[in-house]
Amino acid sequence: CGIVGYVGARPAIAVVNEGLRRLEYRGYDSAGVALIDGDVVITEKRAGKLANLEEAVTARGGLTGPTTGIGHTRWATHGQPNDRNAHPHVSVDGRTAVIHNGIIENFVQLRGELEAEGIEFSSDTDTECVAHLLSAELRRTDDLAEAMRVVCRRLQGAFTLLAVDAAHPDVVVGARRNSPLVAGIGDGEYFLASDVAAFISHTRSAVELGQDQVVTIDASGLTITDFDGDPAEGKPFDVDWDASA
Ligand code: GLU
Repeated sequence: CGIVGYVGARPAIAVVNEGLRRLEYRGYDSAGVALIDGDVVITEKRAGKLANLEEAVTARGGLTGPTTGIGHTRWATHGQPNDRNAHPHVSVDGRTAVIHNGIIENFVQLRGELEAEGIEFSSDTDTECVAHLLSAELRRTDDLAEAMRVVCRRLQGAFTLLAVDAAHPDVVVGARRNSPLVAGIGDGEYFLASDVAAFISHTRSAVELGQDQVVTIDASGLTITDFDGDPAEGKPFDVDWDASA
């Protein structure tokens, strides 16, 4: 339902939590975050209010070290609203984490294929197959955006996706089809979100991603391609509404 991603110099958890709060008005049943800490992906997720997630994060010492992260508020479409179905969903090796808005319409088939290869699912969501597909693709390529493109070409339905991977410490990759995704350009920091409200207190400079595009944010900025890997452009705009609320 709500999606936020951050790459910069500040604690990602603070930026992500604030973003999720600003998206709360859209409604949700669970929330979660994935942060990259060195070469490890840390995830925390909880059914219920954002306060439940924040409590779990506090119990782990606040997780203020990582400066790259993603966060999600879920409105369940496939699978009960509980802790295990909350996003992020993570690959079996624990190294690739994915959050998703929308519905992967061919997930039953994809899940069947992955299970036939011996992969054990740990949720009832349509989303989890994306984590396993990405992980499999990352054994063939070092390039997280390329892995995302290959996976997106296999997906049907509506999706805004963000992914982080332990082997790509300062990178967040996003993709969209039939579901919104905007990037925010700050001063040495970059944001991805389902809605500009998520990063409005940090920057007014935004780029709306087009249909079937993949975006990468890292220290060098913002890179956009289509699902085939050809360079693409989003639509730049300035956010001009009052964010003091
Ligand atoms: N279909 C996914 C799920 O049920 C994502 C729902 C959402 O957009 O929050 O987990």
